[in-house]
Amino acid sequence: MQQPDTQTLIQWDRRYVWHPFTPMKAWMEKTDPPVIERGEGEFLFDTQGRKYIDGVSSLWCNVHGHHVPELDQALRDQLDKIAHTTLLGLCNVPSILLAKRLVEIAPPGLSRVFYSDNGSTAVEVACKLAYQYWVNLGKREKNRFISLRDAYHGDTLGAVSIGGIPAFHQVYEPLCFPVDRIAPPLLPPFAATDASVILDSVSAPQAGNSHWQEDIEHILAQHPGRHAAIVLEPLVQGAGGMLMHPPGTLTRLRHIADKHNLLLICDEVMTGFGRTGKMFACDHEHVTPDLLCLSKGLTAGYMPLGATLATENIFQAFYADPRAGRTFFHGHTFTGHPLACAVALASLDLMESRKTLEHVQKLSAVMATGLAPLRDHANVGDIRQLGLIAAVDIVPRRGHARFDFHWRVGGELCAAMRENGLILRPLADTLVLMPPLASSVQSVSRLTQIVVQSVSTVAEIVRRKQESNGK
Ligand SMILES: *Cc1c(COP(=O)(O)O)cnc(C)c1O
Repeated sequence: MQQPDTQTLIQWDRRYVWHPFTPMKAWMEKTDPPVIERGEGEFLFDTQGRKYIDGVSSLWCNVHGHHVPELDQALRDQLDKIAHTTLLGLCNVPSILLAKRLVEIAPPGLSRVFYSDNGSTAVEVACKLAYQYWVNLGKREKNRFISLRDAYHGDTLGAVSIGGIPAFHQVYEPLCFPVDRIAPPLLPPFAATDASVILDSVSAPQAGNSHWQEDIEHILAQHPGRHAAIVLEPLVQGAGGMLMHPPGTLTRLRHIADKHNLLLICDEVMTGFGRTGKMFACDHEHVTPDLLCLSKGLTAGYMPLGATLATENIFQAFYADPRAGRTFFHGHTFTGHPLACAVALASLDLMESRKTLEHVQKLSAVMATGLAPLRDHANVGDIRQLGLIAAVDIVPRRGHARFDFHWRVGGELCAAMRENGLILRPLADTLVLMPPLASSVQSVSRLTQIVVQSVSTVAEIVRRKQESNGK
């Protein structure tokens, strides 16, 4: 079939596609969105041939860029053998090789890999494993979880239960299991602006705000012996606004979990696979969680795949005679998908041969330098950066509260940046810069230029909003 023209495609999109995280009425009224047709490295091309920098790594998952010959070849090679077969009652070659590889690169002590097919399911698996771990040990009462406010762990109901972003999660509260939330430990504004400083200092424990430690002690005292696990996104809370924790936070949580006999679950769906400048965020503090959730960058952003890594201690709690009733009855049709596992293996090869982690350190410095002019800008409330994650908070005036949410200042800035050849997706009024890890220095530099230039238009946007509001 010949591909319909762009106008027809957009018309059919509006007629048939229900977009994720999207108020659909506003979507219909928006100017025509680009219809992406192909990609090359860090660039996306739409059906009209316009070229964009993929500044969000296709929602935080792309590692080596698009249309990468080695990754494409790995997929084709696997396709020549078999696309999919089940892990229920059978093994397949790529899922075995990948599990071994993941255990080799993961924080030491994680020894077993449970596959699923996305980030939310990787988290669901971790929560169910944590709960059943205690059940299997005869501690059924340990059924509460501790998580952080503004946490995001995915959109399935278990992940929503431990999530903490009211705008996304509040409506589902009656359907969720009970979770005790603590305030996220946060770095003060502009503390995480210099990439080199951050990358070096993260391993040295510092005093952050200590409020959260009192919170957690209070919660533990309120429900003694009732908690199964602490769950968090280590170092950087993604969808909550790229919130960054003070160095040493993860180490302290590990200590607290040990002291009170709970498991530590790290959701590295976003931070995993080099995004923060190390293979895993946990590596910055040499912490091994009991359960580690992976997805997004696992397949370099090519295919949906999730993995939950567990310690031998957890695995052993399920390892018993079938009649003991300790089996983990969980699995998805596409668990351990061969195509996805094959491309994940090829991606790990590329990370090694291309020294991706070193490249991230270099790009991270380029990004920090590029964003430096914004440090003194009146409309910038904070800049945070770790590895190739950067966030710029746009505010009415430094030290002042946020814009009216309905003004969609972040959204307008990103729409304008698209005209300049950059795709970004904001988190409310926080601009998020997350290019593919294999981007060129030139592209990262260009990306920061477009962002810096765009921030200079904030005053104009505000003036227009005020006029149209008659204020
Ligand atoms: C994206 C994300 C998820 C959910 O992954 P999906 O594949 O979108 O279900 C979970 N946790 C974190 C930290 C994420 O960034």
